[in-house]
Amino acid sequence: MARILDGAALAAAIKQEVAEEVRRLAARGIRPGLAAVLVGHVAASEIYVRNKVQACAELGLFSDLITPPADVSTEDLLALVDELNARDDIDGILIQLPLPPHVDSKKLLDAIDPAKDVDGFHPVNAGRLLAGRPALAPCTPAGVIEILKRSHIPIAGQHAVVVGRSDIVGKPVAILLLHENATVTICHSKTRNLGEVTRQADILVAAIGRSGFITTEMVRPGATLVDVGINRLSMREEFDRFFKGDAKREAAFAKRGSTIVGDIHPKAFEIAGAYTPVPGGVGLLTIAMLMSNTVRAAKLRRGL
Ligand code: NDP
Repeated sequence: MARILDGAALAAAIKQEVAEEVRRLAARGIRPGLAAVLVGHVAASEIYVRNKVQACAELGLFSDLITPPADVSTEDLLALVDELNARDDIDGILIQLPLPPHVDSKKLLDAIDPAKDVDGFHPVNAGRLLAGRPALAPCTPAGVIEILKRSHIPIAGQHAVVVGRSDIVGKPVAILLLHENATVTICHSKTRNLGEVTRQADILVAAIGRSGFITTEMVRPGATLVDVGINRLSMREEFDRFFKGDAKREAAFAKRGSTIVGDIHPKAFEIAGAYTPVPGGVGLLTIAMLMSNTVRAAKLRRGL
């Protein structure tokens, strides 16, 4: 029976540690603060940001939610970032992506003070990560490492195969695994014989954005599967392809009209040694790591 790596329990443990650190800082008169910038009204982004602000409240961090309209200009957003960079009550700046197409996202992300870049997307932090210097690491990749470490899955000497090479997930997770002494292979859409490569993985990380793309034949029995993918299924045929006959999923689908599936086919989990479920896996660590990064930024900025 494959072991389930329970994202909810792991996220709760991290949040508890963060809350304890926040209490210790409060005793010294310091309250870490996060500014969340949510442009326009994208339903999924509104939910993500609401959850982030709520996590701040739960753990005792200060948060400031700023909601410019969808037609805000890049210049106005740059001015806002300048203001947030200068504010002493703000330790972390989060700009919820995606931004409207007319906004120059790269220019905006590059304008954030690297010391306040709690998403870890700034080129300075990406460079520091690559160079093995203390950095604010992107939250989802950092969450993947926390899951493996806290679940006592050996990383050193293991062959880790990462499918996906995005700047926000694939690349940084590969670098973090390398720092943990894994032998790392990075795959992408141009990789030849993908299944042959993924079958060599002791640890297989899927960050592709395609429903159930990694199938049972592509997995070595006993491997650890880390599924970063979040893909919403709302069509009945799609749902049946993955979950036909699964009573729990059927009930959820009937109630909500949709469900989510990862980048790894649920059948492949059956032959794994351990795996992160979707939902209930990596996704839950992302917010916990954002809170952890904000507290870390607050301490680093004060030289603690
Ligand atoms: P991107 O679209 O930026 O990157 C996808 C990567 O997958 C690319 O590198 C692409 O290769 C690769 N890929 C696409 N098709 C194939 C293929 N047929 N074979 C091999 N590789 C392929 O996605 P993200 O990295 O932003 O996100 C990946 C997934 O993770 C998504 O489902 C997303 O929703 C989820 N996610 C989850 C988060 C969480 O909190 N849990 C946070 C962020 C993302 P190429 O570079 O060659 O195009």
